Amino acid sequence: MIRAIRGATTVEKNEKEEIFSAVTEMISEIMEKNGLTADDVTDMIFTVTPDITAVFPAAAVRKLGITDVPLLDMAAPDIDGALPMCIRVMAHAETERSKRDIVHAYMRGASRLRPDLASKKISVAIDGPAGAGKSSIAKRVANDLGYIYIDTGAMYRTVGVYALKNNIDIASEQEKLIGSLPEIHIEIRYEENEQRMFLNGEDVSERIRESDASMAASAVAAIPAVRERLVKLQKQMAEKGGVIMDGRDIGTTVLPNAELKIYLTASVDARAERRYIQNKEKGIECTLDEIKADVIERDHNDMTRAVSPLRQAADAVAVDTTALDFEGSVEKIKDLILNI
Ligand code: C5P
Repeated sequence: MIRAIRGATTVEKNEKEEIFSAVTEMISEIMEKNGLTADDVTDMIFTVTPDITAVFPAAAVRKLGITDVPLLDMAAPDIDGALPMCIRVMAHAETERSKRDIVHAYMRGASRLRPDLASKKISVAIDGPAGAGKSSIAKRVANDLGYIYIDTGAMYRTVGVYALKNNIDIASEQEKLIGSLPEIHIEIRYEENEQRMFLNGEDVSERIRESDASMAASAVAAIPAVRERLVKLQKQMAEKGGVIMDGRDIGTTVLPNAELKIYLTASVDARAERRYIQNKEKGIECTLDEIKADVIERDHNDMTRAVSPLRQAADAVAVDTTALDFEGSVEKIKDLILNI
């Protein structure tokens, strides 16, 4: 059976070397992932955006030893807003694989064209202090690239809300909270792409965002038994890859082997102001001074606690968002993921 296989990739410069290497990478991926040899290929059709003029992509294919099949290069239409410097391929090959089992190769910058088909979905760990923009940025990036977003702070918040609801004073009644852990059932559901948190069946997604829940989260997060339980759950959730997980200890403890680790920061003032605006939008009563004090206190708690304190993993990329707006931060993180 002859099957069609799609691929796309991008280059940064209109230069022969880079075009050769991008095409070689894309075609090798198509061949390897679909178990093909040069003999199985029947033809390949390439298109390039009009900004690519240095070399025909098909020339790179001949170098791979695919020499006796028809190869065709064409110019893609010059469409406003289309991904620039993009090389696309449609390869036809003889294979027993069903349509569903064919692996397409959307690589480099082109993985954003079809994130669902992107050949490489990695695990991304994002850590950083409260209010650096981790969750809103991570949520948007995950949505754009077809990743699953996991907000681990929401899990600590949910345990914090349990303590509040059951009048457990976290500072003086740690043992009581630890004894209650088997009764705390945290469930994460995804509704219309939103992560919603359920505590013993009750939707607490809004409750966990209130100010007392933030402080309670920070307090329960310092208890080793709580961390142990939640970290185990988080590791399970990330097992299959394709996740963007944010928190404080993701790069250091939860996903030490994540392909990309990001440490997201911003100045205390910028972070306090963002949280303040966020709260106002949600109708949560607060003052900027309160939020700032809260941010400073949580930074202190998170950075000085004995277990898994917040710190930048040695192999994490630091991204400071103080001077970046939301869209700028999203683009920056997407670039890091797509160019890994
Ligand atoms: O990120 P968010 O502000 O929702 O997190 C709430 C609290 O949960 C943090 O202040 C931190 O103490 C704790 N946390 C943690 N480890 C994580 C995520 C959150 O200790 N991975």
